[in-house]
Amino acid sequence: MRDIAALKARLAAAGIETSDERALLRQRSRDFYWYSPVLKRQLDGKAADLIARPRTEAEVLTTLAACRESRVPVTARGGATGNYGQCVPLDGGLLLDMAGMDRCLSISGGVAEIEPGAKLIDVDLWAREHGWEIRLWPSTKRTATVGGFIAGGGAGVGGITHGTMKERGNLHSVRVATMQDPPQILDLAGDAANPVNRTYGTTGILTLIRLPLTPAQEWRDVGLSFADYPSAARFALALAFSDGIPKKMCGTFDAMLPPFFRGIADAVPAGHSLVLAMVAPSAMIALRDLAREHGGRIVAEQDTVAAERDKDATPFYEYCWNHTTLQVLKRDKGVTYLQCRFPFEDTLAAVEAMRTRFPDEVWMHTECVRFGGRITMSALPVIRWTDEARLRRIMEEIEALGISIANPHTVSIEEGSSYRRVEGDQLGFKRFVDPLGLLNPGKMTSFTMENAA
Ligand SMILES: Cc1cc2nc3c(=O)[nH]c(=O)nc-3n(C[C@H](O)[C@H](O)[C@H](O)COP(=O)(O)OP(=O)(O)OC[C@H]3O[C@@H](n4cnc5c(N)ncnc54)[C@H](O)[C@@H]3O)c2cc1C
Repeated sequence: MRDIAALKARLAAAGIETSDERALLRQRSRDFYWYSPVLKRQLDGKAADLIARPRTEAEVLTTLAACRESRVPVTARGGATGNYGQCVPLDGGLLLDMAGMDRCLSISGGVAEIEPGAKLIDVDLWAREHGWEIRLWPSTKRTATVGGFIAGGGAGVGGITHGTMKERGNLHSVRVATMQDPPQILDLAGDAANPVNRTYGTTGILTLIRLPLTPAQEWRDVGLSFADYPSAARFALALAFSDGIPKKMCGTFDAMLPPFFRGIADAVPAGHSLVLAMVAPSAMIALRDLAREHGGRIVAEQDTVAAERDKDATPFYEYCWNHTTLQVLKRDKGVTYLQCRFPFEDTLAAVEAMRTRFPDEVWMHTECVRFGGRITMSALPVIRWTDEARLRRIMEEIEALGISIANPHTVSIEEGSSYRRVEGDQLGFKRFVDPLGLLNPGKMTSFTMENAA
């Protein structure tokens, strides 16, 4: 039996903010897992027993030491925008709210030093004041934290140029608090940081992040309409391969999706497919030429940074990546989604094979992205939900077409990661830093107490 009251008293005595208010515990223990009817069934009602909100690395260590002694599991929480229940405690325990550690500390040699609870939008706007910007961000940039992006996300806007967070060089180094006896701080640089990259906080608590930046650029959000989807997809891939056009994003949307994008729906002719791109202002002439060559037309345009600074505006990336599904779910609760990656060769043929295979159930949405220097498209298609068996069948058929799937309907790192898994011995590292299995238990399913020692 866990003595949560004693833990709370101990943390309070150390000056660490805590709460065990039931409504808050339930509200804070959720993320966006409800996109998945499968996860919704599994995770509804799960909640922590106590929330702690450390403000310093020392307070993180004190909290972990107290939890270790009381054998209380610890689940870190950033902005709670994850989609696979990453920050939902499966077995109660303590929710470590990292939002209190949100300082942007310094920039040196193009590397930003940031606390993990800083929101990505704040990091980017701060970096811009110094002539830099962040390389990659999720479409939840305005609500997600840098720690949560590294521990639980890792792909998104910027991927067309910089790849994903698993790409060597996109994460400089981190400081991480362990669950050893007593908890330690490890400073991990380069490949040594791989065991804490996208492991859902199961292999340590990030207390400091050093993120390589890229020189700041002005960006234009551009919407282009195409009479048919294959033309839109051909244009998108051609843009991805256009080395002379600085770009941050290029998503394609089959004709049934634009009507759900409130801010730009009226600009897209009925039945047309849409491309949403972010390009440098200097590339607008080249973009128009490329669009003309593919039968496309610019139908919407805005300044990206101005839009993201304005809470009443919608930067176009909030229609892209996993925001597409959200835009549909706002008006139609009967859908879910998948995450796929197309082959590097004959990419467009694979996209078309998948799109035409399930005309009523799979609404095609792709994003251009680099993996290991090679350009392809990943898909986050919206899927009409029937039941779990039908979802499994659709996934099997997609995989039979030679398309990889990172299953978003599981809480397990191993089952859900596929092509998104970061290199390295993450299980071996977990055994070293968390021998009691107290960090976000149940998420790294290859770890068991039997193989812990
Ligand atoms: C509408 C929508 C769009 C999205 N688009 C994208 C996208 O484009 N790309 C993408 O990758 N994801 C996307 N996501 C998923 C999610 O928003 C991102 O992965 C985001 O970066 C998570 O950050 P967060 O701060 O919300 O993390 P949380 O959800 O709070 O946490 C994510 C994981 O990180 C762990 N964690 C948090 N902080 C720490 C820490 N300091 N130390 C150790 N572990 C920690 C948590 O325990 C959890 O396992 C989207 C989700 C939604 C709902």
